[in-house]
Amino acid sequence: MGAPAPRATSAHYDRGVPDCLFCGIAAGQVPATIVVDGKRTVAFRDVNPQAPTHVLVVPRDHVPDVAALAVAGGGLLDELVGTAREVAAAEGIEATGYRIVFNTGRDGGQTVGHVHAHVLGGRPMTWPPG
Ligand code: 5GP
Ligand code: ZN
Repeated sequence: MGAPAPRATSAHYDRGVPDCLFCGIAAGQVPATIVVDGKRTVAFRDVNPQAPTHVLVVPRDHVPDVAALAVAGGGLLDELVGTAREVAAAEGIEATGYRIVFNTGRDGGQTVGHVHAHVLGGRPMTWPPG
């Protein structure tokens, strides 16, 4: 028999959900440019930025979407938004303003099933969104 595939090790996403991209980033096992490295949250640059600042903020624990995060309680949703504010301060866009977006579910345009706040700024945002 051959050796087990590397992804089957116990370190695979360090108790996150195996094969969840953002669990992998939160565990440091998938490369990303980290902006804020918090205790329960982590912020990193979006690989396909839609604005001069485009940072994603996620809880380290796997939660599928913002609705589940609201139901879970425990202050994690507050922390996520607090981390988004920290990102805005670090990026120098607190005074000019920014947009926080939670795409949720199919029609909301969510493509990664681990809740993430998009923090977008550095240019005027348009409305309505597409
Ligand atoms: P959603 O469409 O779920 O609201 O947002 C997912 C975001 O994740 C997209 O903006 C997309 O560009 C970003 N994304 C997808 N794959 C990666 C990746 O491997 N690394 C990073 N940093 N961002 C990613
Ligand atoms: Zn996850």
